[in-house]
Amino acid sequence: MTAERYHGVGAAPGLSIGQVVWWRKESPKVETQTVSDPDGEIKRFEEVVQQAKAQIQQLRQTTAERIGEEEAAIFDAHLSFMEDPAYIGEMKNRIRNQKKNAEAVCRDVTDEMSQMLASLPDEYMQARADDIRDVGTRILLLLSGVQPFDPSMLKPGSIIVAEELAPSDTAQFPPGVAGMVTARGSKTAHAAIMARTLGIPAVLGLGKTLEELADGDTLIVDGEAGSLIKNPDPQTEKEARSEMERQQKLREDALKKADEDAFTADGRRIQVFANIGSLNDLEAAVHNGAEGVGLFRTEFLYLENDQWPTEEEQYGAYRKVLEAFGDKPVVIRTLDIGGDKDLPYAELPKEENPFLGHRAIRFCLANPDIFKVQLKALLRAGVHGDLWVMFPMVENLSEVREAKALLDECRQELQQNGVETASSLKVGIMVEIPAAAVNADLLAKEVDFMSIGTNDLTQYTLAADRGNELVAPLYDAAHPAVLRLVKKTCDAAHEAGIIAGMCGELAGDPKMTEVLVGLGLHELSMSAGTIPEVKEEVRNVQTDNARTLAERTLVQESPEAVRQLATKEPLKS
Ligand code: PEP
Ligand code: MG
Repeated sequence: MTAERYHGVGAAPGLSIGQVVWWRKESPKVETQTVSDPDGEIKRFEEVVQQAKAQIQQLRQTTAERIGEEEAAIFDAHLSFMEDPAYIGEMKNRIRNQKKNAEAVCRDVTDEMSQMLASLPDEYMQARADDIRDVGTRILLLLSGVQPFDPSMLKPGSIIVAEELAPSDTAQFPPGVAGMVTARGSKTAHAAIMARTLGIPAVLGLGKTLEELADGDTLIVDGEAGSLIKNPDPQTEKEARSEMERQQKLREDALKKADEDAFTADGRRIQVFANIGSLNDLEAAVHNGAEGVGLFRTEFLYLENDQWPTEEEQYGAYRKVLEAFGDKPVVIRTLDIGGDKDLPYAELPKEENPFLGHRAIRFCLANPDIFKVQLKALLRAGVHGDLWVMFPMVENLSEVREAKALLDECRQELQQNGVETASSLKVGIMVEIPAAAVNADLLAKEVDFMSIGTNDLTQYTLAADRGNELVAPLYDAAHPAVLRLVKKTCDAAHEAGIIAGMCGELAGDPKMTEVLVGLGLHELSMSAGTIPEVKEEVRNVQTDNARTLAERTLVQESPEAVRQLATKEPLKS
Protein backbone atom coordinates (compact mmCIF):
# COMPACT_ATOMS: atom_id res chain seq x y z
CA MET A 1 0.00 0.00 0.00
CA THR A 2 1.39 3.42 -0.89
CA ALA A 3 0.67 6.59 1.02
CA GLU A 4 -1.43 9.19 -0.77
CA ARG A 5 -2.21 12.77 0.18
CA TYR A 6 -5.46 14.66 -0.36
CA HIS A 7 -6.60 18.22 0.29
CA GLY A 8 -10.01 19.61 1.20
CA VAL A 9 -11.40 22.29 3.50
CA GLY A 10 -10.19 22.11 7.10
CA ALA A 11 -13.53 22.46 8.90
CA ALA A 12 -12.76 21.38 12.48
CA PRO A 13 -9.20 21.51 13.85
CA GLY A 14 -7.21 18.65 15.36
CA LEU A 15 -5.14 15.73 14.22
CA SER A 16 -6.25 12.10 14.32
CA ILE A 17 -5.51 8.65 12.91
CA GLY A 18 -8.08 5.96 12.32
CA GLN A 19 -9.73 3.52 9.97
CA VAL A 20 -12.10 4.59 7.20
CA VAL A 21 -15.73 3.59 7.58
CA TRP A 22 -18.03 4.67 4.75
CA TRP A 23 -21.35 6.05 5.92
CA ARG A 24 -23.42 5.07 2.90
CA LYS A 25 -26.89 6.47 2.77
CA GLU A 26 -29.36 4.22 1.05
CA SER A 27 -32.01 6.26 -0.68
CA PRO A 28 -34.78 3.78 -1.30
CA LYS A 29 -35.83 3.36 -4.93
CA VAL A 30 -39.34 4.71 -5.25
CA GLU A 31 -41.88 3.58 -7.84
CA THR A 32 -45.13 5.41 -8.38
CA GLN A 33 -48.09 3.12 -7.84
CA THR A 34 -51.86 3.56 -7.78
CA VAL A 35 -53.48 2.62 -4.49
CA SER A 36 -56.96 1.18 -4.34
CA ASP A 37 -57.49 2.07 -0.68
CA PRO A 38 -56.32 5.69 -0.14
CA ASP A 39 -57.67 5.74 3.44
CA GLY A 40 -55.61 2.66 4.32
CA GLU A 41 -52.56 4.25 2.66
CA ILE A 42 -53.05 7.45 4.67
CA LYS A 43 -53.26 5.38 7.85
CA ARG A 44 -49.98 3.60 6.97
CA PHE A 45 -48.43 7.01 6.20
CA GLU A 46 -49.63 8.55 9.49
CA GLU A 47 -48.13 5.68 11.48
CA VAL A 48 -44.79 6.24 9.80
CA VAL A 49 -44.99 9.99 10.47
CA GLN A 50 -45.45 9.20 14.18
CA GLN A 51 -42.40 6.89 14.11
CA ALA A 52 -40.34 9.54 12.33
CA LYS A 53 -41.37 12.13 14.92
CA ALA A 54 -40.35 9.82 17.74
CA GLN A 55 -36.94 9.27 16.09
CA ILE A 56 -36.40 13.01 15.68
CA GLN A 57 -37.41 13.71 19.28
CA GLN A 58 -34.92 11.07 20.42
CA LEU A 59 -32.19 12.65 18.28
CA ARG A 60 -33.02 16.05 19.70
CA GLN A 61 -32.62 14.77 23.22
CA THR A 62 -29.30 12.99 22.56
CA THR A 63 -27.95 16.04 20.77
CA ALA A 64 -28.94 18.35 23.61
CA GLU A 65 -27.20 16.04 26.10
CA ARG A 66 -24.05 15.38 24.08
CA ILE A 67 -23.53 18.56 22.10
CA GLY A 68 -25.74 21.37 23.36
CA GLU A 69 -29.11 23.03 23.18
CA GLU A 70 -28.22 25.29 20.27
CA GLU A 71 -27.30 22.39 18.00
CA ALA A 72 -30.29 20.38 19.23
CA ALA A 73 -32.54 23.19 18.03
CA ILE A 74 -31.85 22.10 14.44
CA PHE A 75 -34.26 19.25 15.11
CA ASP A 76 -36.99 21.69 16.08
CA ALA A 77 -37.00 22.70 12.40
CA HIS A 78 -37.37 19.00 11.48
CA LEU A 79 -40.23 18.61 13.93
CA SER A 80 -41.98 21.71 12.61
CA PHE A 81 -41.95 20.18 9.11
CA MET A 82 -43.68 17.12 10.59
CA GLU A 83 -46.54 19.42 11.66
CA ASP A 84 -46.56 21.54 8.51
CA PRO A 85 -49.81 21.33 6.51
CA ALA A 86 -47.93 22.45 3.38
CA TYR A 87 -45.70 19.38 3.75
CA ILE A 88 -47.33 16.48 5.61
CA GLY A 89 -50.84 17.80 4.85
CA GLU A 90 -50.03 18.10 1.16
CA MET A 91 -48.80 14.50 1.06
CA LYS A 92 -52.04 13.25 2.58
CA ASN A 93 -54.06 15.33 0.10
CA ARG A 94 -52.20 13.79 -2.80
CA ILE A 95 -52.62 10.23 -1.51
CA ARG A 96 -56.36 10.92 -1.20
CA ASN A 97 -56.88 12.88 -4.43
CA GLN A 98 -54.33 11.34 -6.76
CA LYS A 99 -54.53 7.82 -5.27
CA LYS A 100 -50.74 7.55 -5.33
CA ASN A 101 -48.65 5.49 -2.92
CA ALA A 102 -47.15 7.30 0.10
CA GLU A 103 -43.56 6.73 -1.09
CA ALA A 104 -44.19 8.52 -4.39
CA VAL A 105 -45.96 11.52 -2.85
CA CYS A 106 -43.30 11.83 -0.17
CA ARG A 107 -40.57 11.89 -2.83
CA ASP A 108 -42.47 14.42 -4.98
CA VAL A 109 -43.53 16.85 -2.24
CA THR A 110 -40.06 16.73 -0.62
CA ASP A 111 -38.37 17.43 -3.97
CA GLU A 112 -40.72 20.31 -4.75
CA MET A 113 -40.39 21.95 -1.34
CA SER A 114 -36.63 21.55 -1.12
CA GLN A 115 -36.17 23.02 -4.59
CA MET A 116 -38.41 25.94 -3.72
CA LEU A 117 -36.50 26.61 -0.46
CA ALA A 118 -33.11 26.25 -2.14
CA SER A 119 -34.07 28.86 -4.74
CA LEU A 120 -34.85 31.56 -2.15
CA PRO A 121 -32.24 34.31 -1.73
CA ASP A 122 -32.23 33.99 2.04
CA GLU A 123 -29.45 31.72 3.43
CA TYR A 124 -31.54 30.68 6.40
CA MET A 125 -34.31 29.43 4.12
CA GLN A 126 -31.78 27.70 1.86
CA ALA A 127 -30.49 25.75 4.84
CA ARG A 128 -34.09 24.59 5.47
CA ALA A 129 -33.91 22.83 2.07
CA ASP A 130 -31.29 20.44 3.55
CA ASP A 131 -33.49 19.94 6.59
CA ILE A 132 -36.52 18.98 4.54
CA ARG A 133 -34.50 16.51 2.45
CA ASP A 134 -33.26 14.95 5.66
CA VAL A 135 -36.83 14.62 6.95
CA GLY A 136 -38.06 13.28 3.59
CA THR A 137 -35.36 10.56 3.52
CA ARG A 138 -36.25 9.53 7.05
CA ILE A 139 -39.94 9.10 6.11
CA LEU A 140 -39.04 7.24 2.90
CA LEU A 141 -36.73 4.82 4.72
CA LEU A 142 -39.45 4.06 7.24
CA LEU A 143 -42.10 3.62 4.53
CA SER A 144 -39.88 1.29 2.52
CA GLY A 145 -38.58 -0.66 5.50
CA VAL A 146 -34.95 -0.11 4.33
CA GLN A 147 -32.50 -0.31 7.21
CA PRO A 148 -30.44 2.91 7.46
CA PHE A 149 -26.72 2.85 8.27
CA ASP A 150 -26.31 1.59 11.83
CA PRO A 151 -23.93 3.90 13.72
CA SER A 152 -23.74 1.56 16.71
CA MET A 153 -21.39 -0.67 14.69
CA LEU A 154 -18.79 2.11 14.55
CA LYS A 155 -15.71 1.23 16.58
CA PRO A 156 -13.74 3.89 18.49
CA GLY A 157 -11.11 5.28 16.15
CA SER A 158 -13.36 5.21 13.08
CA ILE A 159 -12.97 7.97 10.53
CA ILE A 160 -16.36 8.52 8.99
CA VAL A 161 -16.35 9.10 5.25
CA ALA A 162 -19.54 10.20 3.50
CA GLU A 163 -20.78 12.13 0.49
CA GLU A 164 -22.45 14.55 2.88
CA LEU A 165 -23.50 14.38 6.52
CA ALA A 166 -26.73 15.84 7.84
CA PRO A 167 -27.03 17.04 11.44
CA SER A 168 -29.18 13.98 12.11
CA ASP A 169 -26.19 11.81 11.09
CA THR A 170 -23.56 13.58 13.20
CA ALA A 171 -25.96 13.54 16.13
CA GLN A 172 -25.78 9.74 16.07
CA PHE A 173 -21.98 9.51 16.19
CA PRO A 174 -21.02 7.32 19.14
CA PRO A 175 -18.22 8.58 21.41
CA GLY A 176 -14.74 7.88 20.08
CA VAL A 177 -15.24 8.83 16.43
CA ALA A 178 -11.78 9.99 15.34
CA GLY A 179 -12.52 12.03 12.25
CA MET A 180 -14.98 13.07 9.60
CA VAL A 181 -14.38 13.45 5.87
CA THR A 182 -16.96 14.39 3.23
CA ALA A 183 -17.19 15.15 -0.47
CA ARG A 184 -19.49 18.14 0.00
CA GLY A 185 -19.90 20.77 2.72
CA SER A 186 -18.17 23.91 3.89
CA LYS A 187 -16.87 25.39 7.15
CA THR A 188 -20.28 26.85 7.87
CA ALA A 189 -22.26 23.63 7.28
CA HIS A 190 -24.18 22.37 10.32
CA ALA A 191 -22.08 19.20 10.26
CA ALA A 192 -18.89 21.27 10.49
CA ILE A 193 -20.25 23.22 13.44
CA MET A 194 -21.17 19.98 15.20
CA ALA A 195 -17.72 18.49 14.50
CA ARG A 196 -16.08 21.56 16.04
CA THR A 197 -18.34 21.34 19.08
CA LEU A 198 -17.62 17.63 19.52
CA GLY A 199 -13.89 18.20 18.93
CA ILE A 200 -13.79 15.80 15.96
CA PRO A 201 -11.19 16.78 13.33
CA ALA A 202 -12.99 17.26 10.01
CA VAL A 203 -11.96 17.75 6.39
CA LEU A 204 -14.82 18.53 4.02
CA GLY A 205 -15.28 19.33 0.35
CA LEU A 206 -13.04 16.52 -1.03
CA GLY A 207 -15.22 16.18 -4.12
CA LYS A 208 -14.83 13.12 -6.34
CA THR A 209 -11.47 12.08 -4.86
CA LEU A 210 -13.41 10.83 -1.86
CA GLU A 211 -14.13 7.65 -3.85
CA GLU A 212 -10.43 6.78 -3.59
CA LEU A 213 -10.91 6.07 0.11
CA ALA A 214 -12.02 2.53 0.94
CA ASP A 215 -13.37 0.91 4.10
CA GLY A 216 -10.47 -0.12 6.31
CA ASP A 217 -7.88 2.31 4.88
CA THR A 218 -5.77 3.96 7.55
CA LEU A 219 -6.19 7.72 7.40
CA ILE A 220 -4.44 10.66 9.05
CA VAL A 221 -6.86 13.58 9.26
CA ASP A 222 -5.45 17.07 9.78
CA GLY A 223 -8.53 19.24 10.35
CA GLU A 224 -6.44 22.40 10.69
CA ALA A 225 -4.63 22.12 7.36
CA GLY A 226 -7.53 20.37 5.62
CA SER A 227 -5.29 17.49 4.55
CA LEU A 228 -5.44 13.69 4.60
CA ILE A 229 -2.80 11.00 4.29
CA LYS A 230 -4.07 7.58 3.24
CA ASN A 231 -2.15 4.48 4.36
CA PRO A 232 0.85 6.39 5.76
CA ASP A 233 4.27 4.70 6.01
CA PRO A 234 5.28 3.71 9.59
CA GLN A 235 7.53 6.76 10.04
CA THR A 236 4.79 9.26 9.00
CA GLU A 237 2.32 7.50 11.28
CA LYS A 238 4.77 7.62 14.19
CA GLU A 239 5.35 11.34 13.67
CA ALA A 240 1.61 12.01 13.47
CA ARG A 241 1.03 10.10 16.71
CA SER A 242 3.64 12.06 18.59
CA GLU A 243 2.19 15.34 17.21
CA MET A 244 -1.25 14.20 18.40
CA GLU A 245 0.13 13.57 21.88
CA ARG A 246 1.81 16.98 21.89
CA GLN A 247 -1.41 18.75 20.87
CA GLN A 248 -3.44 16.79 23.42
CA LYS A 249 -1.03 17.77 26.19
CA LEU A 250 -1.16 21.44 25.12
CA ARG A 251 -4.96 21.36 25.21
CA GLU A 252 -5.02 19.75 28.64
CA ASP A 253 -2.47 22.21 30.04
CA ALA A 254 -4.33 25.17 28.55
CA LEU A 255 -7.64 24.01 30.01
CA LYS A 256 -6.08 23.60 33.48
CA LYS A 257 -5.08 27.26 33.41
CA ALA A 258 -8.21 28.51 31.65
CA ASP A 259 -9.56 30.15 34.79
CA GLU A 260 -6.45 32.26 35.32
CA ASP A 261 -6.34 35.73 33.76
CA ALA A 262 -4.00 36.09 30.80
CA PHE A 263 -0.87 38.24 31.18
CA THR A 264 1.90 38.48 28.61
CA ALA A 265 5.33 37.23 29.68
CA ASP A 266 6.23 40.86 30.47
CA GLY A 267 3.13 41.36 32.58
CA ARG A 268 0.54 43.11 30.34
CA ARG A 269 -3.03 42.06 30.89
CA ILE A 270 -4.92 40.98 27.77
CA GLN A 271 -8.57 40.26 28.45
CA VAL A 272 -9.86 37.13 26.78
CA PHE A 273 -13.62 37.18 26.38
CA ALA A 274 -16.30 34.94 24.87
CA ASN A 275 -18.60 35.59 21.94
CA ILE A 276 -22.06 34.26 22.62
CA GLY A 277 -24.96 33.82 20.24
CA SER A 278 -27.62 32.74 22.72
CA LEU A 279 -28.09 31.91 26.38
CA ASN A 280 -27.13 28.30 25.61
CA ASP A 281 -23.54 29.42 25.05
CA LEU A 282 -23.16 30.74 28.59
CA GLU A 283 -22.08 27.49 30.20
CA ALA A 284 -19.27 26.82 27.71
CA ALA A 285 -18.08 30.43 28.08
CA VAL A 286 -17.79 30.11 31.85
CA HIS A 287 -16.26 26.60 31.66
CA ASN A 288 -13.54 27.73 29.26
CA GLY A 289 -12.49 30.65 31.44
CA ALA A 290 -14.05 33.65 29.68
CA GLU A 291 -13.15 36.82 31.59
CA GLY A 292 -16.29 38.45 30.29
CA VAL A 293 -18.42 38.60 27.16
CA GLY A 294 -16.90 40.55 24.28
CA LEU A 295 -19.84 40.11 21.94
CA PHE A 296 -23.37 39.02 22.75
CA ARG A 297 -25.14 38.78 19.39
CA THR A 298 -28.74 39.62 20.27
CA GLU A 299 -30.18 38.55 16.92
CA PHE A 300 -31.30 35.16 18.29
CA LEU A 301 -33.99 36.89 20.36
CA TYR A 302 -35.45 38.31 17.17
CA LEU A 303 -34.85 35.29 14.92
CA GLU A 304 -36.48 32.74 17.19
CA ASN A 305 -39.61 34.87 17.54
CA ASP A 306 -42.35 35.43 15.00
CA GLN A 307 -42.87 39.01 16.18
CA TRP A 308 -40.72 41.73 17.70
CA PRO A 309 -39.52 40.52 21.13
CA THR A 310 -40.94 42.59 23.98
CA GLU A 311 -38.91 44.75 26.35
CA GLU A 312 -39.64 42.22 29.10
CA GLU A 313 -38.39 39.23 27.05
CA GLN A 314 -35.22 41.07 26.15
CA TYR A 315 -34.65 42.33 29.68
CA GLY A 316 -34.88 38.75 30.99
CA ALA A 317 -32.27 37.47 28.51
CA TYR A 318 -29.80 40.34 29.05
CA ARG A 319 -30.14 40.12 32.80
CA LYS A 320 -29.32 36.37 32.73
CA VAL A 321 -26.05 36.98 30.90
CA LEU A 322 -25.08 39.88 33.14
CA GLU A 323 -25.81 37.89 36.28
CA ALA A 324 -23.86 34.87 34.98
CA PHE A 325 -20.79 37.09 34.70
CA GLY A 326 -21.19 39.02 37.98
CA ASP A 327 -18.92 42.07 37.96
CA LYS A 328 -17.15 41.07 34.73
CA PRO A 329 -17.79 43.13 31.58
CA VAL A 330 -20.54 42.00 29.23
CA VAL A 331 -20.68 43.63 25.80
CA ILE A 332 -24.18 43.40 24.38
CA ARG A 333 -24.50 44.34 20.73
CA THR A 334 -27.70 45.99 19.58
CA LEU A 335 -29.68 44.42 16.77
CA ASP A 336 -27.61 43.60 13.67
CA ILE A 337 -30.37 42.63 11.27
CA GLY A 338 -30.28 42.85 7.48
CA GLY A 339 -27.43 41.68 5.25
CA ASP A 340 -27.66 37.89 5.30
CA LYS A 341 -29.90 37.90 8.39
CA ASP A 342 -33.51 38.23 7.36
CA LEU A 343 -36.40 38.63 9.75
CA PRO A 344 -39.69 37.67 8.05
CA TYR A 345 -41.92 39.82 10.28
CA ALA A 346 -39.71 42.91 9.76
CA GLU A 347 -40.77 42.90 6.11
CA LEU A 348 -37.37 44.21 5.05
CA PRO A 349 -37.40 45.42 1.46
CA LYS A 350 -35.49 43.34 -1.07
CA GLU A 351 -32.14 44.98 -1.73
CA GLU A 352 -29.71 44.57 -4.64
CA ASN A 353 -26.70 44.45 -2.32
CA PRO A 354 -28.00 43.61 1.16
CA PHE A 355 -24.54 43.62 2.77
CA LEU A 356 -24.15 47.20 1.60
CA GLY A 357 -27.70 48.03 2.49
CA HIS A 358 -30.12 49.03 5.19
CA ARG A 359 -28.76 46.84 7.97
CA ALA A 360 -27.86 46.99 11.68
CA ILE A 361 -27.60 50.52 13.14
CA ARG A 362 -29.00 51.97 9.90
CA PHE A 363 -32.18 49.94 10.29
CA CYS A 364 -32.40 50.68 14.02
CA LEU A 365 -32.03 54.45 13.64
CA ALA A 366 -34.66 54.44 10.92
CA ASN A 367 -37.00 52.50 13.22
CA PRO A 368 -36.62 54.18 16.63
CA ASP A 369 -39.77 52.56 18.02
CA ILE A 370 -38.23 49.13 17.55
CA PHE A 371 -34.77 50.24 18.66
CA LYS A 372 -36.00 51.94 21.83
CA VAL A 373 -37.55 48.69 23.09
CA GLN A 374 -34.09 47.11 23.02
CA LEU A 375 -32.35 50.14 24.52
CA LYS A 376 -34.81 50.26 27.41
CA ALA A 377 -34.37 46.54 28.06
CA LEU A 378 -30.61 47.09 28.14
CA LEU A 379 -30.78 50.09 30.48
CA ARG A 380 -32.90 48.09 32.91
CA ALA A 381 -30.77 44.95 32.70
CA GLY A 382 -27.59 46.99 33.21
CA VAL A 383 -28.56 47.34 36.89
CA HIS A 384 -27.53 43.68 37.31
CA GLY A 385 -23.93 43.76 36.09
CA ASP A 386 -21.20 45.55 34.17
CA LEU A 387 -22.95 46.35 30.90
CA TRP A 388 -21.22 47.64 27.79
CA VAL A 389 -23.63 48.50 24.96
CA MET A 390 -22.21 48.20 21.45
CA PHE A 391 -23.62 49.56 18.18
CA PRO A 392 -22.90 47.50 15.04
CA MET A 393 -21.98 48.67 11.51
CA VAL A 394 -21.24 52.24 12.48
CA GLU A 395 -19.97 54.26 9.52
CA ASN A 396 -20.03 57.86 10.72
CA LEU A 397 -20.16 60.13 13.73
CA SER A 398 -23.77 61.20 13.44
CA GLU A 399 -24.91 57.59 13.74
CA VAL A 400 -23.10 57.32 17.07
CA ARG A 401 -24.48 60.63 18.30
CA GLU A 402 -28.00 59.73 17.25
CA ALA A 403 -27.82 56.30 18.91
CA LYS A 404 -26.46 57.82 22.12
CA ALA A 405 -29.21 60.46 22.08
CA LEU A 406 -31.83 57.72 21.78
CA LEU A 407 -30.21 55.89 24.69
CA ASP A 408 -30.46 59.09 26.81
CA GLU A 409 -34.07 59.56 25.76
CA CYS A 410 -34.86 56.00 26.87
CA ARG A 411 -33.10 56.53 30.19
CA GLN A 412 -35.16 59.67 30.85
CA GLU A 413 -38.43 57.98 29.90
CA LEU A 414 -37.71 55.06 32.21
CA GLN A 415 -36.67 57.29 35.08
CA GLN A 416 -39.78 59.44 34.67
CA ASN A 417 -41.76 56.27 35.22
CA GLY A 418 -39.74 55.44 38.32
CA VAL A 419 -37.90 52.53 36.68
CA GLU A 420 -34.36 51.88 37.84
CA THR A 421 -31.66 52.11 35.13
CA ALA A 422 -27.97 51.25 35.07
CA SER A 423 -26.00 53.92 36.87
CA SER A 424 -22.84 53.37 34.88
CA LEU A 425 -22.86 51.86 31.46
CA LYS A 426 -20.24 51.98 28.73
CA VAL A 427 -21.11 52.76 25.14
CA GLY A 428 -19.04 51.57 22.21
CA ILE A 429 -19.07 50.70 18.55
CA MET A 430 -18.03 47.90 16.29
CA VAL A 431 -15.38 48.87 13.80
CA GLU A 432 -16.30 46.73 10.83
CA ILE A 433 -16.68 49.24 8.00
CA PRO A 434 -13.38 50.49 6.56
CA ALA A 435 -14.55 54.12 6.91
CA ALA A 436 -14.88 53.61 10.66
CA ALA A 437 -11.34 52.27 10.90
CA VAL A 438 -9.94 55.10 8.78
CA ASN A 439 -11.82 57.68 10.88
CA ALA A 440 -11.30 55.81 14.15
CA ASP A 441 -9.65 58.90 15.71
CA LEU A 442 -12.86 60.90 15.24
CA LEU A 443 -15.14 58.11 16.44
CA ALA A 444 -12.94 57.30 19.44
CA LYS A 445 -13.77 60.71 20.95
CA GLU A 446 -17.47 59.78 21.16
CA VAL A 447 -17.25 56.32 22.76
CA ASP A 448 -15.85 54.32 25.67
CA PHE A 449 -14.58 51.41 23.59
CA MET A 450 -14.22 50.08 20.07
CA SER A 451 -14.36 46.43 19.05
CA ILE A 452 -13.10 45.36 15.65
CA GLY A 453 -15.39 43.02 13.70
CA THR A 454 -12.96 41.40 11.30
CA ASN A 455 -15.66 39.23 9.69
CA ASP A 456 -17.30 42.23 8.07
CA LEU A 457 -14.21 44.44 7.98
CA THR A 458 -12.49 41.80 5.83
CA GLN A 459 -15.34 41.46 3.36
CA TYR A 460 -15.67 45.22 2.91
CA THR A 461 -11.93 45.91 2.72
CA LEU A 462 -11.26 43.13 0.23
CA ALA A 463 -14.59 43.38 -1.62
CA ALA A 464 -15.05 39.65 -1.05
CA ASP A 465 -18.47 38.51 0.22
CA ARG A 466 -17.93 36.52 3.43
CA GLY A 467 -20.42 33.84 2.37
CA ASN A 468 -19.49 33.43 -1.30
CA GLU A 469 -17.44 30.26 -1.98
CA LEU A 470 -16.23 31.66 -5.31
CA VAL A 471 -14.30 34.45 -3.65
CA ALA A 472 -13.38 32.46 -0.53
CA PRO A 473 -9.68 32.31 -1.55
CA LEU A 474 -9.60 36.13 -1.48
CA TYR A 475 -11.28 36.39 1.91
CA ASP A 476 -8.60 36.31 4.62
CA ALA A 477 -8.59 38.54 7.68
CA ALA A 478 -4.80 38.21 7.86
CA HIS A 479 -4.54 40.40 4.74
CA PRO A 480 -2.08 43.24 5.42
CA ALA A 481 -4.71 45.78 4.31
CA VAL A 482 -7.07 44.52 7.06
CA LEU A 483 -4.25 44.48 9.61
CA ARG A 484 -3.35 48.08 8.72
CA LEU A 485 -6.93 49.07 9.55
CA VAL A 486 -6.72 47.12 12.80
CA LYS A 487 -3.53 49.01 13.67
CA LYS A 488 -5.11 52.35 12.78
CA THR A 489 -8.06 51.60 15.06
CA CYS A 490 -5.82 50.49 17.95
CA ASP A 491 -3.65 53.61 17.62
CA ALA A 492 -6.74 55.84 17.67
CA ALA A 493 -8.09 54.03 20.74
CA HIS A 494 -4.77 54.44 22.61
CA GLU A 495 -4.59 58.10 21.68
CA ALA A 496 -8.12 58.63 23.07
CA GLY A 497 -7.44 56.47 26.13
CA ILE A 498 -10.21 53.97 25.37
CA ILE A 499 -10.23 50.17 25.00
CA ALA A 500 -9.53 48.49 21.67
CA GLY A 501 -10.97 45.00 21.36
CA MET A 502 -11.60 42.50 18.60
CA CYS A 503 -14.58 40.18 18.33
CA GLY A 504 -14.30 38.93 14.73
CA GLU A 505 -13.10 35.37 14.04
CA LEU A 506 -9.48 36.51 13.73
CA ALA A 507 -9.39 37.13 17.50
CA GLY A 508 -9.84 33.40 18.13
CA ASP A 509 -6.99 32.25 15.92
CA PRO A 510 -4.19 31.27 18.33
CA LYS A 511 -1.62 31.49 15.55
CA MET A 512 -2.37 35.22 15.22
CA THR A 513 -2.43 36.06 18.96
CA GLU A 514 1.10 37.48 19.06
CA VAL A 515 0.43 39.67 16.02
CA LEU A 516 -2.83 40.96 17.51
CA VAL A 517 -1.22 41.81 20.84
CA GLY A 518 1.58 43.51 18.89
CA LEU A 519 -0.94 45.57 16.92
CA GLY A 520 -2.19 46.94 20.24
CA LEU A 521 -5.39 45.09 21.12
CA HIS A 522 -6.34 45.06 24.81
CA GLU A 523 -9.13 42.56 24.54
CA LEU A 524 -9.83 39.53 22.35
CA SER A 525 -13.24 37.90 22.14
CA MET A 526 -13.94 34.51 20.53
CA SER A 527 -15.99 31.31 20.60
CA ALA A 528 -15.55 29.69 23.98
CA GLY A 529 -13.62 26.62 22.76
CA THR A 530 -10.52 28.58 21.75
CA ILE A 531 -10.22 30.69 24.91
CA PRO A 532 -7.82 28.38 26.81
CA GLU A 533 -5.45 28.12 23.85
CA VAL A 534 -5.45 31.86 23.13
CA LYS A 535 -4.77 32.56 26.82
CA GLU A 536 -1.76 30.22 26.64
CA GLU A 537 -0.51 32.06 23.57
CA VAL A 538 -0.87 35.41 25.37
CA ARG A 539 1.28 34.06 28.21
CA ASN A 540 4.10 33.35 25.74
CA VAL A 541 4.07 36.84 24.22
CA GLN A 542 6.82 39.39 24.85
CA THR A 543 5.22 42.73 23.99
CA ASP A 544 8.30 44.24 22.33
CA ASN A 545 8.79 41.21 20.10
CA ALA A 546 5.09 41.18 19.31
CA ARG A 547 5.22 44.84 18.22
CA THR A 548 8.15 44.16 15.91
CA LEU A 549 6.36 41.14 14.48
CA ALA A 550 3.16 43.16 13.98
CA GLU A 551 5.04 45.94 12.18
CA ARG A 552 6.51 43.35 9.84
CA THR A 553 3.11 41.85 9.01
CA LEU A 554 1.96 45.26 7.75
CA VAL A 555 4.51 45.28 4.95
CA GLN A 556 3.95 41.71 3.76
CA GLU A 557 2.63 41.18 0.27
CA SER A 558 -0.13 38.70 1.04
CA PRO A 559 -2.15 37.06 3.82
CA GLU A 560 -0.16 33.85 3.22
CA ALA A 561 3.08 35.70 3.91
CA VAL A 562 1.54 37.20 7.07
CA ARG A 563 0.45 33.78 8.31
CA GLN A 564 3.84 32.25 7.61
CA LEU A 565 5.53 35.06 9.45
CA ALA A 566 3.09 34.71 12.35
CA THR A 567 3.81 30.99 12.70
CA LYS A 568 7.51 31.59 12.06
CA GLU A 569 7.49 29.05 9.26
CA PRO A 570 10.17 29.66 6.66
CA LEU A 571 8.68 31.36 3.60
CA LYS A 572 8.25 29.03 0.66
CA SER A 573 10.06 30.25 -2.45
C1 PEP B 1 -17.85 40.78 12.61
O1 PEP B 1 -18.36 41.30 11.61
O2 PEP B 1 -16.62 40.54 12.72
C2 PEP B 1 -18.68 40.40 13.76
C3 PEP B 1 -18.14 39.96 14.89
O3 PEP B 1 -20.03 40.48 13.61
P1 PEP B 1 -20.93 39.41 12.81
O4 PEP B 1 -20.05 38.22 12.49
O5 PEP B 1 -22.05 39.08 13.73
O6 PEP B 1 -21.32 40.19 11.61
MG1 MG C 1 -20.37 42.11 11.68
